[in-house]
Amino acid sequence: MKVRVHKILKKTKVEGPGVRYCIWFQGCSRHCKGCWAKATWAPDGGKELDAEDVLKDILATKGIEGVTFLGGEPFEQPQALEYLAREVKEAGLSVVCFTGGKLEDIKNREILNYIDLLIDGEYKEEEQDFSRPWVGSKNQRYHFLTARYGEKILTEYKNKIEINIQKNGLIFINGMGDFDKLTGRLDMLTRH
Ligand code: SF4
Repeated sequence: MKVRVHKILKKTKVEGPGVRYCIWFQGCSRHCKGCWAKATWAPDGGKELDAEDVLKDILATKGIEGVTFLGGEPFEQPQALEYLAREVKEAGLSVVCFTGGKLEDIKNREILNYIDLLIDGEYKEEEQDFSRPWVGSKNQRYHFLTARYGEKILTEYKNKIEINIQKNGLIFINGMGDFDKLTGRLDMLTRH
């Protein structure tokens, strides 16, 4: 089975509870105003990988609490998402998944059996709010679909940004916060 991926980060602390393997799915037809992840929109962008290889890499990564699926829109590749979420869950890792849609509108209900925390709702620029962990606007909701996590984690974690300098020298920024302010500061740093 194939999965089209924009980016994989094997360990991050800012995309859900604990240390997480993070997969940005490629492709999103929602095109929210103010989206920071426009590079994930094109359905033929990113790279196509074997989902089985991605799973092997996840299971070989030591020290992770779970996997976070985001994008892009993970639910636009429902078969790959279901496969990976199911296998990850069966391996005892936790699953966090973001969607720009609403829980009520998800057609493939089977996937929901393999997600511990679903964070739903599209990013709305006019409702921007960074006060809650991992989300950028007030309309976004947390759904605890299993007993693995609960409301308590929302007080234990805050929004944070990670800056990764890759081997090729490119800088990759992830997490949630005021990216406009941050890129302004980075610009300032490069000028001094
Ligand atoms: S759902 Fe997410 S990735 Fe898609 S356009 Fe909206 S903010 Fe961007």
